[in-house]
Order: sequence, then C-alpha cells, then structure tokens
Amino acid sequence: MTVGILALQGDFREHEEILRSIGAPTLLVRQPKQLEHVDRLIIPGGESTTIGKLMALYHLLAPIRQRAGQTLTLWGTCAGAILMSRQLVGKHASDQPALAVMDITVRRNAFGRQLDSFETMVQMPVIGAQPIAGVFIRAPIIEAAGDGVEVLARIDDDTIVAARQGRLLVTTFHPELSGDDRVHRYFLEL
Ligand code: GLN
Repeated sequence: MTVGILALQGDFREHEEILRSIGAPTLLVRQPKQLEHVDRLIIPGGESTTIGKLMALYHLLAPIRQRAGQTLTLWGTCAGAILMSRQLVGKHASDQPALAVMDITVRRNAFGRQLDSFETMVQMPVIGAQPIAGVFIRAPIIEAAGDGVEVLARIDDDTIVAARQGRLLVTTFHPELSGDDRVHRYFLEL
C-alpha cells in the first residue's frame, strides 16, 4: 500500500517526512500515471488556486475525482480541503478548478486578517483523548457539512476543523507541521 502525496505546490515534503517516520511507503504524485500505484492520496496545504490550476494542467483532476472515496482514500489538509469541497463560497469561489468530491461547504481565508494564522489545541476524539496542536495558516472554514459527513473536530466557537465522509478526510489545520503523527496514522487506517 503506497501513499501518494500530491506534489505540485505546498508542503508535501512535510507529509512525506512524517509518513516515512512511521514506515509508510510514499510516492510524490505529479503525473496521472503515478496514480495507478497508489490507493491513498494526500492533498497538501499550500495555495488552493495554484494547486487546482496545476491539477487541471497536468490532467490530474478527472482521474482523482473518478476514484475519490472508492479506490482512492483522500485526505486534504487546508488548501487540500478547499479543493475537495463540493461547495466553495466567498470571493473568487467559482473560478477555481477543484475536485469537488465531498459534501462540505468551505469558505477560504475565513478567519479574518489578524487571525489569518494561529495555533490552538484541537480535541479530535478519533485519534485519542489527548488534544493535537492545530496549526492554522490562512485556513478556510468548513461552514456546513452534509448528512453523510461525520464531524471529527471543532474549535472553541464550534467551527468544524476536521471531518470525514467515508474514505474522504479533511482537516483545515496542518497535522504535518505539529510533530504529531496521529492524524497520519488515522488516515492510514481509513
Ligand atoms: N489560504 C490558502 C488557500 O485559500 C490555504 C492555506 C493553507 O493551505 N495553509 O488556498
């Protein structure tokens, strides 16, 4: 079982490092052909507009979309979560290429200017009782989740920061930057 990490832009190296440290075979994915060798794929944080455009340019959108949640278990962190959302709201929401595979409504850069980036402890019971350090970097907000979506974590004001729909997982924070491998381990078990 090889875990693909979409490596077009963003912090894919950090995901690669943490997966290596727990002994999971990884493959940096840049071409459609490489997808044939993976049954899990991480879409990293970065700039969702850029990643989406590059995915379109390299013909990666359709093959990922076709397998998402079925033969391909997907995890999007931050920008990755934006790309997985079926409904993007806010400025420029409609003109960015996206996978649009998960029943969540997401608003980009939604924490407001002074809170663009922050760190807070996140309770995420599926990975254990101990909270995880949540690193939020110009994070989006998951404003709504459909019936089939299980909310896995919220922060203080009830904002959803992690959710799962079958074999689709999203986090709006960056577990790969917190030195805590529990979300990666959870993803490997989905
Ligand atoms: N602000 C970025 C976007 O809208 C996401 C930031 C991130 O991935 N850390 O694409």
